Amino acid sequence: MHGGTRVSAEYDFTEDVDPGTKRHVRYPVGETYLGDPVEIPVTIVRGERDGPTIFLSAAVHGDELNGVKVVQEVASRYDPADLHGTLVCLHVVNVPAFYAQQRDVPIYDQDLNRTFPGKKRANTAQRMAHRIYQGFVSECDLGIDFHTSTRNRTTIYHVRADLEDPSVERLARSFGPNVVLYGDGDGGSLRAAATSDGISTITVEMGRAHRFQAVLIEKALEGVESVLAEYELLPGRPVHWPGWYVTTAIDTEKRWIRADSGGLVEMEWGPYPLVYADEPICRITNHFASREDVVRAPFTGLIVGVLENPVALPGHPVCHLLRLDADTRDEIEREIETGEFDGYRIHGDWIDE
Ligand SMILES: [Zn+2]
Repeated sequence: MHGGTRVSAEYDFTEDVDPGTKRHVRYPVGETYLGDPVEIPVTIVRGERDGPTIFLSAAVHGDELNGVKVVQEVASRYDPADLHGTLVCLHVVNVPAFYAQQRDVPIYDQDLNRTFPGKKRANTAQRMAHRIYQGFVSECDLGIDFHTSTRNRTTIYHVRADLEDPSVERLARSFGPNVVLYGDGDGGSLRAAATSDGISTITVEMGRAHRFQAVLIEKALEGVESVLAEYELLPGRPVHWPGWYVTTAIDTEKRWIRADSGGLVEMEWGPYPLVYADEPICRITNHFASREDVVRAPFTGLIVGVLENPVALPGHPVCHLLRLDADTRDEIEREIETGEFDGYRIHGDWIDE
């Protein structure tokens, strides 16, 4: 690895990094079969003045790359002289999965995002999670964890957050997303573990795995800046509020629409991810084109996630649909007319680069 100071597992960034400085470190979270250290790259940007400490983490799933670019940019963009507080940039959390360019830790395919806050003496993934959590996350006040869709799917740019917690809701809104899906997080996720320890944390879901999607990365950088403004790490900057905003209640208003037949899938919706009740979402045909099954929208909504690999089995999710109220639908229709919604177009950065 190039650059960065190799540090020990006892490393404490709150003591090591002086106010007004930036440090790049390589922090050990495990060992390889050769007995060499597995190290994660971390940048600490400690502002000249005091303020909140916020972590930004990427590649908890090793092939979800958009956030890696966001964290790299955040780590280089901000000058400690301007900051009131500290940025903890965890560039690549799941290093073994990142090496393999796959989602889960290669050892026994463990999902690192089901193991937080981890355990000191347990399996490989739990030990990794424990080191990362104790070394960095537990020292923070706030967190933003960047993800993408799982491979073969894509997702609209959105935030996931436990909106029942007012301090999490403040963080979610100040990031400035149009869509926030409510949830207290899967057990063992970084977001759920940190939030339950009083470290308000949101997950940002952006696009596809295995890609850098420039439009989404730019949006996320604006979101980070807006959060830094809201919490006065960057006093005097504007907080960004979106023109429209939808959240889900606990479970009712979003639904995975599933195929009822197996075959070849052709998407029918688009170019915008707004579909009206009873409109076709996709068409599933058999190889002889002798059977066709049209999947229709059960209600007017926003498509927030969609299948990309164009084959389905009965029960396969083909899209994730979020119900819209009339006001939000009107606002989206207005933005489609003015072009403000183009970031969400099928031929924009969401579906096709
Ligand atoms: Zn993920």
